[in-house]
Amino acid sequence: MIVTDQPAALPKFDPAVDYYALLQVHPRAHAEVIKRAYRAILGVLGAHPDLGGMHDHAVRLNEAYAVLSHPAARRAYDAARRRQTLRTRLIKRAPGDRALRARIVRCPRCGAKNRLPADTDLAYAVCGKCRGVLGVER
Ligand SMILES: [Zn+2]
Repeated sequence: MIVTDQPAALPKFDPAVDYYALLQVHPRAHAEVIKRAYRAILGVLGAHPDLGGMHDHAVRLNEAYAVLSHPAARRAYDAARRRQTLRTRLIKRAPGDRALRARIVRCPRCGAKNRLPADTDLAYAVCGKCRGVLGVER
């Protein structure tokens, strides 16, 4: 059996798409605000002369509104968005990011914890507290 994040009863959504940005509303916007934004944008689209080119946009807007106006779907979408954002951050930060690869080295002299980039040569690194060389074995 295939387990998905999206129960069949909920409108389908794509967590990679920012529906809030599409509807130009805040992620915590009230349902009424979302409804008004949706109608206002559709009104602008409906008046647009290039209706063919606007079709895809209208489809995405409808999808955004279908999800965000459905409380359970909105909650599922928000949760999926948070997971997506977290994954994206982790991917973006790997593997060249020094902060992500930082390690904690305890000073052999005073015992203070020093946060260092993972590629630091301990033979040259000194303790931030006592200035002792961190690479010296006790
Ligand atoms: Zn120290």
